Amino acid sequence: MINLISDTVTKPTKAMLEAMMAAEVGDDVFGEDPTVNALEEKVASLFGKEAALFCSSGTMANQIAIKLNTQPLEEIICDRTSHIYYYETAAYAMISQTVMSPIPTLTGKLSPSDITDNIKPLVDWLPHTSMVGIENSCNRAGGIYYTLDEMATLSKTARANGLKIHLDGARIFNVLVETGDKPDQLGQYFDTISTCLSKGLGAPVGSLLISSKANITKARRIRKALGGGMRQVGLLAAAGNYALDHHVQRLKEDNDKAKEIGAFLETLTYVKEIKPVQTNIVIFTIDEAHTGQQFLDHLKQNGVLATAFGKNMIRFVFHLDVPLDAIDDIKKALTTFT
Ligand SMILES: *Cc1c(COP(=O)(O)O)cnc(C)c1O
Repeated sequence: MINLISDTVTKPTKAMLEAMMAAEVGDDVFGEDPTVNALEEKVASLFGKEAALFCSSGTMANQIAIKLNTQPLEEIICDRTSHIYYYETAAYAMISQTVMSPIPTLTGKLSPSDITDNIKPLVDWLPHTSMVGIENSCNRAGGIYYTLDEMATLSKTARANGLKIHLDGARIFNVLVETGDKPDQLGQYFDTISTCLSKGLGAPVGSLLISSKANITKARRIRKALGGGMRQVGLLAAAGNYALDHHVQRLKEDNDKAKEIGAFLETLTYVKEIKPVQTNIVIFTIDEAHTGQQFLDHLKQNGVLATAFGKNMIRFVFHLDVPLDAIDDIKKALTTFT
């Protein structure tokens, strides 16, 4: 089976498992796991920041960031398809007592005026706007990305208005291999950054929250309060270290496969609309002659697993467990749908 449901479905490679088996570990709640410490230091300096924190999920890293960047009764501006708004169970309400101001953008990307037009006046009876969250790449928008310049402009806009700015960089490495920018160019623009090891990088578990030393000191306590203090977790951090050393450059292959399939979809009459393919995600709509479920069933019978992303809307995600020769099989499964 070729599994295009998500880039979270990857399994650790043999070499990654060997790195995990060889990991030197300690009790990370006491800050004594050398493998975790090495990963946190590596990622902090990679992004041009002072410190980082290993978290059990991207959701945890994002939610700790929200807690750091806001006070109760405050509001967060983000695109309405953002993971922090749409996919995290409204945890911002439970953990940080905040609300979202989800902006319906055309592209999934915020513009500077999406920020400035939606800052609420500082009066007693309105939530106070205090944070902007952007996602790069934008998952529900089909994996499109913000350029470095666009991120710099949004950061400037947010800060000029006294707002904190968070980057949900779950798939930031898929972006960086496309643009050729370096992660250390990003640090200056954001108060907090999260990134996932368990997406296209292929580690089984783990995300990092990246910020200032003072913020990460606070973040350690928030993580503990959320039940995210783990003990000999160097076993998992070793997978992340391995992924960063060996699986970053190859993300370009995933992006290229997505683009090849995106171009192929253009040739199929039952495909109505394809979102611009810029990284490893392809989101497209099929015509009303079939249901999305019929399409998914056909793909499954032909060895391809995918998922619906709305009515007649389908998402494919490419990752390191999709071999090169799978592309022909995917095309065949797409061609034989009638
Ligand atoms: C996957 C993902 C996350 C984090 O998800 P977890 O499943 O909690 O690790 C955050 N943001 C985006 C955009 C994602 O795709």
